[in-house]
Amino acid sequence: MIPPSDPDGPTPQAGTPAYPDDAPASAAAMARARAVTPGGVNSPVRAFGSVGGTPRFMRSARGAWLEDLDGRRYVDLVCSWGPMILGHAHPDVLAAVTQAAARGFSFGTPSENEVALAEEIVARVDPVEQVRLVSSGTEATMSALRLARGFTGRSVVVKFAGCYHGHVDALLASAGSGLATFALPDSPGVPPSSAGETLVLPYNDVPALEAAFAERGDQIAAVITEAAAGNMGIVPPDPGFTQALLRVTRAHGALLISDEVMTGFRASAGGWFGLEGPYAEGAPDLFTFGKVMGGGFPAAAFGGRADVMAHLAPEGPVYQAGTLSGNPVATAAGLATLRGCTPELYDRVGTAARAIADGVAQAFAAAGVPHRIQWAGTMFSVFFRDGQVRDYDDARAQDTAAFGRFFHGMLRRGVHLPPSCFETWFVSGAHDDEAVDHVLAALPGAVEDMLTPPSD
Ligand SMILES: *Cc1c(COP(=O)(O)O)cnc(C)c1O
Repeated sequence: MIPPSDPDGPTPQAGTPAYPDDAPASAAAMARARAVTPGGVNSPVRAFGSVGGTPRFMRSARGAWLEDLDGRRYVDLVCSWGPMILGHAHPDVLAAVTQAAARGFSFGTPSENEVALAEEIVARVDPVEQVRLVSSGTEATMSALRLARGFTGRSVVVKFAGCYHGHVDALLASAGSGLATFALPDSPGVPPSSAGETLVLPYNDVPALEAAFAERGDQIAAVITEAAAGNMGIVPPDPGFTQALLRVTRAHGALLISDEVMTGFRASAGGWFGLEGPYAEGAPDLFTFGKVMGGGFPAAAFGGRADVMAHLAPEGPVYQAGTLSGNPVATAAGLATLRGCTPELYDRVGTAARAIADGVAQAFAAAGVPHRIQWAGTMFSVFFRDGQVRDYDDARAQDTAAFGRFFHGMLRRGVHLPPSCFETWFVSGAHDDEAVDHVLAALPGAVEDMLTPPSD
């Protein structure tokens, strides 16, 4: 039996190692989980594989705080990997979800919330004229690829090393995120025929792009890119890189798919496009969205030019479908979340992110620890190395062992970081002074722990 949790319970004392490294209730749950689930988790990075130790099982979350099965409280810098931009269990989203659920869980027919959510997305990202709702970011990128191939009648896809687009077969080559963490070069189970239609190029490398198109330009259906990479840590496109992608794809009749699953409605109100666009060279033909637009529920989308989207069934021949697509509860959560994504919200998120990043930079500098912080709008990540990070090779040249010690130093002090140095640190509008000050107070001790070699 899980005891009832108290989301407003006592906070750990700031700055002190409040919690021991063993977490008995989480360890017991993990043992049960391992028996019935591979590795005990339903998404690999959650297993703490690269930092070691017991993943904390959470029983509740409110605002900026998580509470685990042992009743320990942590400031959350994962935010469910991005979606919880308003903070956990935000009252407006909770009310919308409760009301929607009371009216029924899934209709298998069109419903009005789907239209409202699509309208909200179309209104925020100018080149997006139409969207189709799906249930995960993976489904969005998979469907966008199929559509691009159907539209162009070509089959080759270009992706960039270190960019993660979900676990789509064709895109599981040199992907970041969990694959970076576990250093899997490729996944078994992806047939060579599928990966063979994928060209992997270095990110931010225009000559490599031009060379690939000079050789195979008439076979390339699409280039897919993270609008600003966030799954190898934050690596924004160099000035002019997105424009080069537009220029080269246009010249060869290929489509450009901008994956904004992470950056969409997160980097800014209009995602990365809202910060960097519009472009004189044109606009990406297709976009993918997820994370924030689902408000913590399974909702994602792909969309773009109406003439391309017209190739989708039932209007066109490219098949795509989903039993739970546009689910009324998920769309209610997404809609309430996007409506809460006001200019003031982005100000609050940006201010909290800046304060935490500045604190990290100060604590690391004071201890003489090499580090580099990179930004995409309100999003940032911390590299455990010096110097600019422009691509996947740069990102991989980090001190991952030091990160593991730092991670556990923060965890002991009641701060839950993403458990890998290749991940973005996420904050929310609920990261108020109390939460930010708690993170800042934890930093010096965690840096000290990082510099102390393990004693066993
Ligand atoms: C998270 C992510 C995905 C995959 O989304 P899921 O909902 O986990 O399938 C795709 N692309 C990017 C850029 C992402 O960050």
